[in-house]
Amino acid sequence: MPVMTTMKVPYVDLGAQYSGIKQEVLDRIGALLDSGAFIMGEELATFEKSFAELCGTTYAIGVANGTDALFLSMMALGIGKGDEVITAPNSYLASASSIALAGATPVFADVLDDMNLDPQAVRKAITSRTKAIIAVHLTGRPARMEELLAIAMEHDLNVIEDCAQAIGATLNGQHVGSFGVTGCFSLHPLKNLAAAGDGGVITTNDDAVHAHLLKARNHGMRDRDHSAFFSYNSRLDNLQAAVLNVKMRELPRWTERRRAIAAMYHLGLSGVGDLLIPKDANGERAVYHTFIIQTAQRDALKAFLEERGIDTKIHYPVPIHLQEAAAYLGYKRSDFPVTEKQCATILSLPVFAELSDEQVDHVIASITEFFVSER
Ligand SMILES: *Cc1c(COP(=O)(O)O)cnc(C)c1O
Repeated sequence: MPVMTTMKVPYVDLGAQYSGIKQEVLDRIGALLDSGAFIMGEELATFEKSFAELCGTTYAIGVANGTDALFLSMMALGIGKGDEVITAPNSYLASASSIALAGATPVFADVLDDMNLDPQAVRKAITSRTKAIIAVHLTGRPARMEELLAIAMEHDLNVIEDCAQAIGATLNGQHVGSFGVTGCFSLHPLKNLAAAGDGGVITTNDDAVHAHLLKARNHGMRDRDHSAFFSYNSRLDNLQAAVLNVKMRELPRWTERRRAIAAMYHLGLSGVGDLLIPKDANGERAVYHTFIIQTAQRDALKAFLEERGIDTKIHYPVPIHLQEAAAYLGYKRSDFPVTEKQCATILSLPVFAELSDEQVDHVIASITEFFVSER
């Protein structure tokens, strides 16, 4: 009997990414420590400028994290008590918790096979209290922005984009974060562009929203001594911006590698078992924050891969509407059948840029072997 060789394939390897940029990051941090410019410095201004350029927006505003990016966007739009905001139940918690934190009510709409919002379900969820749609570009794939923007226009709603997983993704050549009134990005260490800790960015083309956010992230300060309104402390550290400025330069290369790995998976796994495999649809350029396959044998496959040294994850096993935190909203099981089915069938494969071709081949061979032995 041939023995399947095991090869370690971690789900992520932050150290591998760091080793490629180590000296430059250390130099920049060292210079910053020498200067003592920790809050609102030059590194932040540089980062915001290049981030806006990347997204094709007039402005980018650094904030403390992706959750604050969403929350502050809603505050800027005056969304609060008595208002409803529609989002996806299969997203990360923050897509919904930010709505609740703003004082509004999260309302969910089911998703499609590709895990992004179903525009028809969004339309059905609209009431007289609906103020906005949070379009999540889940997994790094652009949501159906044309339809969602058309629905929003029809009902006079704002569209906020949750771009936490989708930096650099485009739809018909247009970057995510430039479609809605704001685009909300997370720079969490596990996101495609990662700070050395927490961070976030808001993109916008709207002068008034930009002016509000500059104050809202910094105690409502208009200038050094005058506050226009009581507000939060939600700034992006200059130190984080220094790290991010180095990584911004590498991001296109990392994104290309993620896309190349996704293409290898797609080629190698097409027609294997009952697998549903993600692929760019027409006009889409996804950035594969996660590469999520779907199979009825999810749990058995996950265990099989673990035996072969391959680490996988589930994003996310419990949908937001069934979280204890959401109990007060009154949702129940079977309210969102597609989302709930996917919770049992989704499996995230390693897709970080530093994976070797051999590791990707090992994942493909192992999955193929699993389905052959299943039959
Ligand atoms: C990570 C994430 C967030 C929250 O970002 P934080 O920086 O962790 O606050 C929001 N939405 C989605 C879809 C995410 O993946």
